[in-house]
Amino acid sequence: MTQWLSGVASIRPALWPESRESSTAVGRSVAAEVAVCQVCEGPTHARFALCYCCRVLVRQLKMPLVPMVAVADYRIGDALHRRLRGYKDAPVAEARRNCVAQLISLLDSWMEASGPQLRRRFGSGWDVVATVPSSHRPSGAPFDAVVSAVRALDGLHRPVLVRGPAPTGHLAADRRGFALGPEVDRDWLRHQTVLVVDDSVVTGARAQSAAAALRLGGARVAGVVAVGRVVAQKVGGRVSLQSPVPPSTARTASALAVG
Ligand SMILES: [Zn+2]
Repeated sequence: MTQWLSGVASIRPALWPESRESSTAVGRSVAAEVAVCQVCEGPTHARFALCYCCRVLVRQLKMPLVPMVAVADYRIGDALHRRLRGYKDAPVAEARRNCVAQLISLLDSWMEASGPQLRRRFGSGWDVVATVPSSHRPSGAPFDAVVSAVRALDGLHRPVLVRGPAPTGHLAADRRGFALGPEVDRDWLRHQTVLVVDDSVVTGARAQSAAAALRLGGARVAGVVAVGRVVAQKVGGRVSLQSPVPPSTARTASALAVG
């Protein structure tokens, strides 16, 4: 059980872009060609406003994406990754509860400290918090237990989304991946700004599909907050997913609506 509990201190919340410049490990020659994706803040070639994954998602969804922010980056097998798996899948209930408690602590303290920066990044606040329904569970998203205990989110949390008829997954977004729940008042939703919250993102396909369903239902979506975002690691000499975050570029709210 201890493997689910160790290493809390090693989870370092993500730095905001203005703080990243001094901490980056990217060299000058590489940095000259690398920029930050205006949607997900991952690395992209300087020629592109969006990274490869976000460009694919735009084509699949046929609409601009909403900005995404991750509380912390993780690598497969590290402490945060174990918690993000353990809160759902740990075989012992006590271990699951401990993982939930640690994710609550991480998200709660980050939201308290970063609320103003988050609103600036998204260009607005929000009236409603929506979680992304699970791909594997027919009902009762475990992440709802985390969100319901985070002070900045709980009072605004509404179960507005359900799974839709189309599958979503790794780099596979779909407008019909999620749908509004049957009890959701469409007239009410049209006057709401929604914050989408998810446990972790890899390509952002599921979170952006959820945001698309809300927008197609008439809501405004401020953006997506994920507790964790996976970053690259060398696997057999190959770098998978993302390389280290490069120096940031200035972003504006209007620049985020890049199609
Ligand atoms: Zn991106």
